[in-house]
Amino acid sequence: MTLLYTSDPARGRIWRAIFAEDAADIGFVDPSQSYDPAAIRYLAAWAPSAELIASLPNLEVLFSIGAGIDQFDMDALPPHVRVVRMIEPGIAAGMVEYATMAVLALHRNLIDYREAQKEARWAPIKLTPAGERRIGVMGLGNLGRAVLQTLQPFGFALSGWSRSAHAINGVDCHAGEDGLKAFLPGCDILICLLPLTDETRGILCRNTLSQLPRGAAVINVGRGAHLVKHDLLSLLDEGHLSGAVLDVTEPEPLPAGHPFWTHPRIMLTPHVASMTRPDGAARALIANIRRFAEGRPMDGEVARDRGY
Ligand code: NDP
Repeated sequence: MTLLYTSDPARGRIWRAIFAEDAADIGFVDPSQSYDPAAIRYLAAWAPSAELIASLPNLEVLFSIGAGIDQFDMDALPPHVRVVRMIEPGIAAGMVEYATMAVLALHRNLIDYREAQKEARWAPIKLTPAGERRIGVMGLGNLGRAVLQTLQPFGFALSGWSRSAHAINGVDCHAGEDGLKAFLPGCDILICLLPLTDETRGILCRNTLSQLPRGAAVINVGRGAHLVKHDLLSLLDEGHLSGAVLDVTEPEPLPAGHPFWTHPRIMLTPHVASMTRPDGAARALIANIRRFAEGRPMDGEVARDRGY
């Protein structure tokens, strides 16, 4: 059994060392080496080309080297190939830091103070206690839950929304279309941590964002295509929304001249909320190959028909 790794070469060197130490029985090759395509059972990649997929007749599992799988061309993938997203501790740790930073920045009016500083204006804003600030998380998966758990000790009023029903201590949980109508009006700060699927593309649009209370703010750490650009801009300019923290955009990198770069109520980062750590990723992948070989469920396996 051999794994083909096609991502960043520097990270690949760390993967190779960990495979050599922990899983010498699993072959590890990268495109710089010559290899027999028929020997490749596992592929670790970000966005493999249709040509690469077609060249691997015995491929059994495609592993994403990131938390999402929306970058995969599913049509190029034979139906029997199983798809697994990356779950490793570094991804959740980074996301928790970023989401906490963004929530606290919005909660403590940093966008207003950034504007006031530009104008040398000393303009204190009355503090809102955390208990009076309602934070809602769209997506109660691996990352959404980790973020909620970290926000809990601040005392925020927490809620969440997902596809199927969940029960989380201290979190008001909603599910499905009807649940969304009940969830949105109770979010002063909305965090999007959904996967990008046919159902969630464009979900942050005028229809949903205008159901947030007046003055609400949005944090998008899911994918850029969750957000409808013009709807966000007009709701900010109308004052219905007070701010947005965006780590993901459509497209990436964001082109020069895009209105998000200069909008006074938008804080922008270049898709850095969290990054897969190569050591954690290699170990997570080895564990999953072992599970697969033993016929056990893999951690992070995607339901291909559901898209996440
Ligand atoms: P999971 O698959 O663990 O969780 C996804 C959650 O979204 C689940 O709760 C699921 O509901 C919910 N969901 C999916 N579709 C719908 C829908 N149609 N309506 C309502 N809820 C839905 O994903 P992760 O938590 O691991 O990751 C989430 C996303 O975060 C990734 O897909 C990626 O896009 C993004 N991400 C961004 C990063 C960055 O640096 N900005 C880094 C890492 C990830 P249910 O529980 O019912 O299945």
